[in-house]
Amino acid sequence: NSLEEKIDYVFKIVVIGDSAVGKTQLLSRFAKNEFCFDSKSTIGVEFQTRTVAMKGKVIKAQIWDTAGQERYRAVTSAYYRGALGAIIVYDITKRPSFDHVARWVEELRVHADNSIVMTLIGNKSDLVDKKAVPTEDAVEFAEDQGLLFFETSAFSGANVDMAFLKLLEEIYNAI
Ligand code: GDP
Ligand code: MG
Repeated sequence: NSLEEKIDYVFKIVVIGDSAVGKTQLLSRFAKNEFCFDSKSTIGVEFQTRTVAMKGKVIKAQIWDTAGQERYRAVTSAYYRGALGAIIVYDITKRPSFDHVARWVEELRVHADNSIVMTLIGNKSDLVDKKAVPTEDAVEFAEDQGLLFFETSAFSGANVDMAFLKLLEEIYNAI
């Protein structure tokens, strides 16, 4: 389409977090406005893209997916190379996935560029009845670590664009 011909910037974003928190579904929701009900076979796709107009510029977000590597703690430094933004995802219904966020942030501090902009996402906000991570806990952690924070649902789409677009805007403001 016409936007694709006018790209000013390509922003590499990496998505990390425990297995099954909804990383791949978040990418698909943002990139294609899709939610896949049979998502067993998501392995193999390296990244998805979406091009947006922002403040008179055209930005192509190139969003990388760990595609199963998180299970083997095998996310390599090559994955983080050149990334301007990172999204760390946990599942609001799975306390351990939130407890592991600190470890993922540490991974970024070791492997990624110092100036990387980080966003924390608590996903599956549609499953309110099973909520196991209070919003206040995540807000406190995010403020403490200097992360943007959003609760989203890849399933309903709630807050997904907001979270990704805010990250792109923060990156744009920093360059
Ligand atoms: P990944 O391993 O982090 O990439 O997780 P997936 O994107 O493969 O999602 C893991 C499971 O959670 C799948 O069964 C998804 O359908 C489900 N899932 C992902 N996002 C949501 C969400 O926002 N709400 C609900 N209810 N389920 C979700
Ligand atoms: Mg996945």
